[in-house]
Amino acid sequence: MAISPERFSLDAPTLQSDPIDFFNMEIEEAEERLGSLLGKKFHGKSFVSFVYKHRITDPMLMSSLPTAMRPMLVGRVNIAPLPVVRKMVSKDGTVKFLLQVQTLKGPQEIECVYIPEEDRVTLCVSSQVGCKMACKFCLTAQLGFKAHLSAGDIVRQIWTVEQDPELRKITNIVFMGMGEPFDNFEEVKKATRLLTHASGFEKSAKRITVSTVGNVEKINMLKKSDPFRLAVSLNATTDEIRSRIMPINLKWNIAELMDACRHYSQRTNKRVTFEYILMKGVSDTMEDAQRLSKLTSQVSCKINLIPYNESPFTEFKRPSDEQIQKFHSYMLRQDNAVFIRKNRGNDIYAACGMLRKVAPDPA
Ligand code: SF4
Repeated sequence: MAISPERFSLDAPTLQSDPIDFFNMEIEEAEERLGSLLGKKFHGKSFVSFVYKHRITDPMLMSSLPTAMRPMLVGRVNIAPLPVVRKMVSKDGTVKFLLQVQTLKGPQEIECVYIPEEDRVTLCVSSQVGCKMACKFCLTAQLGFKAHLSAGDIVRQIWTVEQDPELRKITNIVFMGMGEPFDNFEEVKKATRLLTHASGFEKSAKRITVSTVGNVEKINMLKKSDPFRLAVSLNATTDEIRSRIMPINLKWNIAELMDACRHYSQRTNKRVTFEYILMKGVSDTMEDAQRLSKLTSQVSCKINLIPYNESPFTEFKRPSDEQIQKFHSYMLRQDNAVFIRKNRGNDIYAACGMLRKVAPDPA
């Protein structure tokens, strides 16, 4: 059977009322706050190191903290993973997690997707519950916007999946799940700092990618020191089509977006990744290939072609394999760094643009 959904309990350790939200603090802030709770800054540093480095979350096992202090930490600091509501495993090994988060609007559900490959393991995380951007081809858009995620709840997606004994260590993180990351800019940037801090998750900044639908204002604010790479969801080569399928284009058109990307790559010396969804009759013609090649020629970049993940919930279709190959070959002949991204987890609605739609029941 292709799909094996599993139900998980929502067990979480008993917390005192108003516990310290550990993952929502910058590392230095956590060291200081816990240091003052424990009377000495170095105890705060030890606590942080037990959690992030040694993955020890029971204060009673934190051997370098004074024995008398440990009980008062029990239930005082929230280090718990997010409750896993559902875990679905695709026939290709992709795993989709439905997780519960607490927001100002009460409990909500988000998804993140674990994608194992031979040489890497990627986790695709959500930055919002739902999304405001209303891209026509995207199933998340159909949920509308519900809430922003805190930095703590963004990194707790990684923390939660890393607790699963059946899964490999996460090497790459992409902010391409539910939501537009730059619509939740400060929390997303804080999350990338926690992920890359030497005393935090200690992930490589080169292996963290934040994707935007094309928020030019935020792209212009990015600095070389921001610990992530930029991906831009382009998906069309004319303003007419792009405005039709991605309303953000009415605010910042393709020329403004490409300008911002060019300045970004010059300013930061980092390559931009353009995500380009191939949709039959919408973005897959040879004229599109020519325009795409020309548009991206001014930017230090690579291009990911993503054959559309069809579902009964949108009108868009995947081009034929032959058309996909033709498009790709043309782009290669023009000397572009261009790749066809494999669709992963379609059977469990875990693929790009499919999050938070319930997959059909297993046959
Ligand atoms: S593609 Fe991304 S930005 Fe567009 S609606 Fe979907 S989640 Fe939002």
